[in-house]
Amino acid sequence: MTKLVVGSATDVGLVRANNQDQMLVAPGLYAVADGMGGHAAGEVASATAVRALQAAFEASGERSSQALGTAARAANRAVWEQARANRGMFGMGTTLVALAVVEHEDGTSGLAVAHIGDSRLYLWKQGGLDQLTVDHTLVQELIDDGQLSPAQASIHPQRHVLTRALGVEPSADIDVFEVKPQHGDRYLLCSDGLPREASDKEIGAVLGRYPDPTAAARELINLAKSRGGNDNITVVVVDVLANDSSPDTLIVVPGPDAFGGPPTESSAGAGGGQGGTAAPALRAQPGRRGAATAESDEPGTSTSEGDVAPAKDSAVPPPDIAPVHLAASPKRFTWRVLAFVAAAGAVIGGAIGAIAWYARSAYFVTVSHGNIDVYQGRPGGVLWFGPTLAERTRYTAQSVPQYELATLEQGELVPSLSQANLYIRRLVSQKIEAQVPLPGGARGAPHGKQLPSPSKTGTAKLP
Ligand code: MG
Repeated sequence: MTKLVVGSATDVGLVRANNQDQMLVAPGLYAVADGMGGHAAGEVASATAVRALQAAFEASGERSSQALGTAARAANRAVWEQARANRGMFGMGTTLVALAVVEHEDGTSGLAVAHIGDSRLYLWKQGGLDQLTVDHTLVQELIDDGQLSPAQASIHPQRHVLTRALGVEPSADIDVFEVKPQHGDRYLLCSDGLPREASDKEIGAVLGRYPDPTAAARELINLAKSRGGNDNITVVVVDVLANDSSPDTLIVVPGPDAFGGPPTESSAGAGGGQGGTAAPALRAQPGRRGAATAESDEPGTSTSEGDVAPAKDSAVPPPDIAPVHLAASPKRFTWRVLAFVAAAGAVIGGAIGAIAWYARSAYFVTVSHGNIDVYQGRPGGVLWFGPTLAERTRYTAQSVPQYELATLEQGELVPSLSQANLYIRRLVSQKIEAQVPLPGGARGAPHGKQLPSPSKTGTAKLP
């Protein structure tokens, strides 16, 4: 029998205002999704994806790579339809990397992988780290095509432009494959917030230093944050531990609830209990959110129940409130004075409110210290209402056409955050189109695919 032991952690990082990553830690099904889109759309996209994935995988009643692929396509549809139904979520999407215990007809078990975007699956084995998924990014395609080296890609201004993502089109091209787990294997699912800050060598060193998967997950978060934490960071570490009897069956070993609940028992699937094969029955718990995922997000060990790790903001404990006793003061006002004060207050308050509304009702895109950022407010501010940073994108002045820089330096006013993201995406696409000679097919497309036109299917991964 082979056991899986899981540790996980997610963190907003040090720059982003919210966490658009989501992780799924359910018995026999693990996933990381990294959402994109303005306002809360990125969070909605990633949460929708993992919930739909879990629900569809469970509903299939089948534990196979085909069922995982079907579930991932259902997740794509769920995100797509939600984006279409909500104006403010237009253009949202998400990456997805999922790992599922699957059963074979001969009674053995394996692990199936579904992947789209630039979240990654790694295998750490005997001290070496291998990336098992291939990023669906523009730079990866250029690497595959021999036009960029991995080192050049790591600093390329368009390195975050995705060529495939979940939920941006009615159907998605999702990579699905199987891996054969062996004792001692350690699988790592992560969002790009980890590899953008740390090299494979550094990630592998942490995985080798911390045998406990929860400790390893927590330390990987710390590693990314120590390097700047410029993006949300999410990691799920899945250890394959065998004893000697039946190395081809998998049992999922639950640990303490990842989100603060008590440990629960989860036996392994078919055949029931101890000798069962593969994944246990999963129970959908859409909407359930953990309570203690803040601050390195309480990295946890696998739960026995499906759970979606929320984008967490640390739960700040309420301050101690000491009772305050006020001495009664003598009445020194008349009702007339009170009415006057109330009327004056209403007028002043209304005026301030109107100014504040005007000052804060718009967004603008600008270049700040070489970075393309989105601010809420108006360039230069209005009276004492200065603009505030709404989103720091991954793009720099080099990511957009040169001729747009003068406009951006002044601040390009847009009505909403989602419009800001669309505007930036358009600029980035213009720059890419100007730089990259797109298809025709002469270059030969990696993965047997044509490199899509960024303006059509290339998805700039915005914060
Ligand atoms: Mg990310």
